[in-house]
Amino acid sequence: MSRSAHPAGPRHADVLPEGHYTAPPADLNALDPKVWSQTVGRATDGAVTVAGIEVTRLAEEFGTPAYFLDETDFRARCAAWRDAFGPGADVFYAGKAFLSRAVVRWLHEEGLNLDVCSGGELATALSAGMPAERIAFHGNNKSEDEIERAVSVGVGRIVLDSFQEIVRVAHIAQRLGKRQRVQIRVTVGVEAHTHEFIATAHEDQKFGIALADGLAAEAVRRALELDGIELIGIHSHIGSQIFDMAGFEVAARRVVGLLAEVRDEHGIELPEIDLGGGLGIAYTSDDDPSEPHEIAKALNEIVSRECEAAELRVPRISVEPGRAIVGPTAFTLYTVGTVKPLEGLRTYVSVDGGMSDNIRTALYDAEYTVALASRRSDAEPMLARVVGKHCESGDIVVKDAFLPADIAPGDLIAVPATGAYCRSMASNYNHVLRPPVVAVRDGEARVIVRRETEEDLLRLDVG
Ligand SMILES: *Cc1c(COP(=O)(O)O)cnc(C)c1O
Repeated sequence: MSRSAHPAGPRHADVLPEGHYTAPPADLNALDPKVWSQTVGRATDGAVTVAGIEVTRLAEEFGTPAYFLDETDFRARCAAWRDAFGPGADVFYAGKAFLSRAVVRWLHEEGLNLDVCSGGELATALSAGMPAERIAFHGNNKSEDEIERAVSVGVGRIVLDSFQEIVRVAHIAQRLGKRQRVQIRVTVGVEAHTHEFIATAHEDQKFGIALADGLAAEAVRRALELDGIELIGIHSHIGSQIFDMAGFEVAARRVVGLLAEVRDEHGIELPEIDLGGGLGIAYTSDDDPSEPHEIAKALNEIVSRECEAAELRVPRISVEPGRAIVGPTAFTLYTVGTVKPLEGLRTYVSVDGGMSDNIRTALYDAEYTVALASRRSDAEPMLARVVGKHCESGDIVVKDAFLPADIAPGDLIAVPATGAYCRSMASNYNHVLRPPVVAVRDGEARVIVRRETEEDLLRLDVG
């Protein structure tokens, strides 16, 4: 396709409509290392590269849209989390962020554990050789079948989410002649999202058992009475895309408070606490996430301090980062199909995917950035909205971003930080085929989840 100029659209900051952007970046060709994985750069011809491979070559070989996952970056993040917490703690990767058999193997090799929350995730983990004892099973409504499989294969822990589930898991384990290690998930009355946290009244959601009103203490009482389960600790997960440690501080204090209550009432010190995941990543240059070693230091200090005050032995800590490991490791590569300038508003750039490969913008009003990837451009910045090909006006991938004004059909554009909750939440809306995930490392690219085909779609449609 030719790069013909299109009618002049909105270009300059002084004519821009309201939106989620500040000023255009100084250099549209620059790739902020905060939002791109570590092996991403630009070749001398201007094309974006990952692991030394130009995206133009990747697009030829694998097509678009496609997710490209930087294996080196993924492994480095695993190692950073593992080393930050050390041998005295456990890091569980939250599989729901993105799970495939290759990823399970990398996690295993890097010494991480794995959270799953469905039979499908459990099957993926086991089929790639993750030892069952390194798997934690989550979810607010695990089916009897899922519980039975989890107990039978011997998962390291099941995180109990309700009074009914305490009994259900205990009975199933007893029937199978097992004693299942469990944690109880509590809601500490803190909810944290993005840059803020709220410390009251957030018991009004479906997960966990509230600490308030003594409910969690009652859950511990019940769990301790049942033979089929062994209560090893308390679990808390306060939210997602969190940048501020204040929410964890309150959560840790309240969980340790429960441990002290349990000690006073039952004379036992539960050996573990799990503080969940939710650590934020940079989707745009405005985000400033903490490093794993800073997070580990802060959490260890908080827990030690609270335990000292309560005269408790410091329990073994676990954390469950999902997004913070896989989010920054991948970008989505799209081909531009149409460019539609709306006078006085912005220019709509349509790509060959959309809400079926990234629902986060439509679902959470998420922010992303985007770069022209197949070439460098010195054209002036143009306010753009990157939209998909679905029959839905909310089908937006990037709400507001600057692209060079000469963007044209056939150009490749890349949206960084799409490793988490994009492929895992992908759909077949409009019978669009879900994109592949391609792992790239040291100059080599290989498909780890293949592109869906029309045969795949038709195979499920049994007429
Ligand atoms: C979703 C979830 C996580 C991971 O959250 P991220 O924001 O991806 O780090 C960890 N633990 C539990 C229980 C979760 O539900």
